[in-house]
Amino acid sequence: MIQENELYRKVADACRWETADAFRLQSRIHRLRWFGRSDIWVKRDDELSFGVSGTKLRKHASIIPSLKQQGIEEVVVIGGANSNNVLSAAQTLTENNIKITPFLLGPPSQKLGNSKLFSLFVDDSEIHWISRAQWADCEDLVNKYVEKRKAQGIKIFVLPEGAHHPLALPGSLSILVDILRNERESGVCFDHVFIDAGTGMVAQSLLAGAAALERKTVFHVVVLAGSFEEFKSGLSRVIQYAEAFLGVSFRSLPDYHMYYPATARSFGSTNNSIFKEIKRIAREDGILTDPVYSAKLFLTARQRISEQRLEGNILLIHSGGGLALSGFMDCSMFSV
Ligand SMILES: *Cc1c(COP(=O)(O)O)cnc(C)c1O
Repeated sequence: MIQENELYRKVADACRWETADAFRLQSRIHRLRWFGRSDIWVKRDDELSFGVSGTKLRKHASIIPSLKQQGIEEVVVIGGANSNNVLSAAQTLTENNIKITPFLLGPPSQKLGNSKLFSLFVDDSEIHWISRAQWADCEDLVNKYVEKRKAQGIKIFVLPEGAHHPLALPGSLSILVDILRNERESGVCFDHVFIDAGTGMVAQSLLAGAAALERKTVFHVVVLAGSFEEFKSGLSRVIQYAEAFLGVSFRSLPDYHMYYPATARSFGSTNNSIFKEIKRIAREDGILTDPVYSAKLFLTARQRISEQRLEGNILLIHSGGGLALSGFMDCSMFSV
């Protein structure tokens, strides 16, 4: 077991919190008024940045200082054309004068939302498009490119899909550090935490951090991409990263449950129920959510809290991603 202040110090060091240009990773919490209750709260990671989704800002917060320290000049970023991680990396890398070389699944038939915004940052001619048929060979294609650049003397790094990488661990753990701060400031101790998972990096880090502190919280993970099995294998990898980073071995994991989204199960898919939920959240809670991540988290959490009659203090993490909504402005579902 480690102490909270030890966790804080390690995360603060890796994210260089003492420097003026460090990413700010503190977000507030406030109550939702669901079911007439006053013990359901939301953590506003969506407020961490306008352009970079909250979870991505956390991951990049420890990746970027390490890349700078290593003198990395170019980063290959792998992902979908509409990936939040790709759009976020275009911002955090460019800001830090590191060249982004995207290897993207596509091209899409029409650029909307994130992929359109991405073209503000990177010229189309710089994108390496990989068709779906070639996607399985993406790693080989990237390796070939990386070897070529290394031979030219360029210091290059490869950021995997969704930034699921050991360098993202300290930044991902910052979410637990910040929840502890929220608890101290509000005097509320959370019994249940709901979080969404894409690659699972942030949710897995939260579980690993809770294991390190031996916290008794129950975690509810909404698995939005991939399967429960894939989440669990990612979790074992992140536990290894965390044990190495924190210098302890964990006795046991906290209690956690996994759910597939209550509707529109496949990653990136949406339907009328999702857009109805987006409108409900906007009207009743006053919060913008996106159809890929946060609306599915809210919808699934509402259902689980009511069906399982969950008691105690509950925290939902709103991970951000609102810019993705811009891709749906002219979509007929938008106004259901
Ligand atoms: C990427 C992303 C997630 C998922 O993060 P992972 O660490 O890949 O699980 C959740 N919400 C938003 C808004 C994201 O952009």
